[in-house]
Amino acid sequence: MFKRALVTGGTSGIGLAVARALEHAGYAVLVTGRSQKSVGESGFAGMAVDVTDPDGLARALTNQEPFDLVVANAGGAVTAPALKTAPDQWDRMIALNLTSLFHCARLTVPAMIARGRGRFVVIGSTASIKGYRYASAYAAAKHGGLGFVRSLALELAQTGVTANLIAPGYTDTPMIASAVDSLTRRTGQSAEAVRLQFASSNPMGRLIVPDEVAAAVLWLASEGAAAVNGQVIAIDGGETA
Ligand code: NDP
Repeated sequence: MFKRALVTGGTSGIGLAVARALEHAGYAVLVTGRSQKSVGESGFAGMAVDVTDPDGLARALTNQEPFDLVVANAGGAVTAPALKTAPDQWDRMIALNLTSLFHCARLTVPAMIARGRGRFVVIGSTASIKGYRYASAYAAAKHGGLGFVRSLALELAQTGVTANLIAPGYTDTPMIASAVDSLTRRTGQSAEAVRLQFASSNPMGRLIVPDEVAAAVLWLASEGAAAVNGQVIAIDGGETA
């Protein structure tokens, strides 16, 4: 029988790479994205749902067959100086990168507990572990995600279900492409120079590849990772070392 996986934000970038890797490994994969169009274009079955809408998430996830693996990946960033971040930008970052994890977990993990097995994996960020200039709301939300995962993991420890967080460094996805675009416009630097700045925060001098994040998800989903719980796994070339 196929194992079932849910990947939120599985229509693009890291989420799409994770969905493809899981399908390749034999999982039946469901993805979510914000629109029917993006879900359709992903090539996966799934639902259009805004993860910042708890009622919409509940409609999408209630009455689903239990999942063996849930990858809470949907997220996004805004850049602004800490003290000039607009209150609505702040609220949106917390809703998108933190509160959505809570709703995703409360709607999917109980069915895993009932079966005595499952994996809840959050795609956090190196911003779950360290600060970045002009990304305070994003970093605050991502740090909060790590606190949630660590605490949830302790409560799950005797249930057969684990919770962990993967923390990628700058990764070559549409999210980074749009950050490069916006910085290019704001600073007048070339796109190549801006990309190099992102790459240079990684001691390996390059962007992370989405498949490298997917490989970590596959490992966390494996039987061999059954005792890995409440951990943050940085995929960052050593940036946070
Ligand atoms: P992309 O922009 O390529 O993809 C984001 C995904 O999230 C899309 O599938 C998008 O769906 C979905 N999404 C965004 N907002 C919402 C929302 N409100 N409701 C539902 N779905 C939403 O980003 P990445 O692949 O780069 O990022 C994926 C995750 O990885 C994020 O959590 C991000 O913070 C994290 N990350 C990314 C890094 C990077 O450098 N790229 C580094 C570290 C962490 P759709 O487009 O269909 O609407």
